[in-house]
Amino acid sequence: MILYRLRCSKGHEFESWFKDSKTYERQEKKSLIGCAVCGDAKVARALMSPRIGKGGEKVEVETPAVTAPPPSPTAEQQKMAALARHMPKELRQALLKVRAEVEKTCEHVGDKFAEEARKIHYGEGDKRGIYGETTDEEAAALAEEGIEFGRLPWIPRGN
Ligand SMILES: [Zn+2]
Repeated sequence: MILYRLRCSKGHEFESWFKDSKTYERQEKKSLIGCAVCGDAKVARALMSPRIGKGGEKVEVETPAVTAPPPSPTAEQQKMAALARHMPKELRQALLKVRAEVEKTCEHVGDKFAEEARKIHYGEGDKRGIYGETTDEEAAALAEEGIEFGRLPWIPRGN
């Protein structure tokens, strides 16, 4: 795959992936590429490099081909990262503080949270603080059984 920066005749710039440069050239010749902004089929590759040389002579530097994009985080992680980006700094810091406190004092049970919470509630497990992940359905079931727990957005550390 190769990522090209394109520009339509109205000056909109956008990026598009192509299988290879030949695919791009073929699609461009047949006017199969539409501008992402206005749909204009008259697109050309935008120059990504500054002009080099004298007398206004343009030197086009081949942009490096970009291979597969890095592995993307899970939908949940993306949601939390987006949430963290848009929340006020104070709130984010407060949540991170709570997160650190929970991690220090409670036992991480991962996705067995609902199972462990039930065991503790019904006296089958040691009474202790636990934390982990659970689905909305499981959380609703726990609440119905009268099991006490809290939920908080588990936002990622750092930026
Ligand atoms: Zn356009």
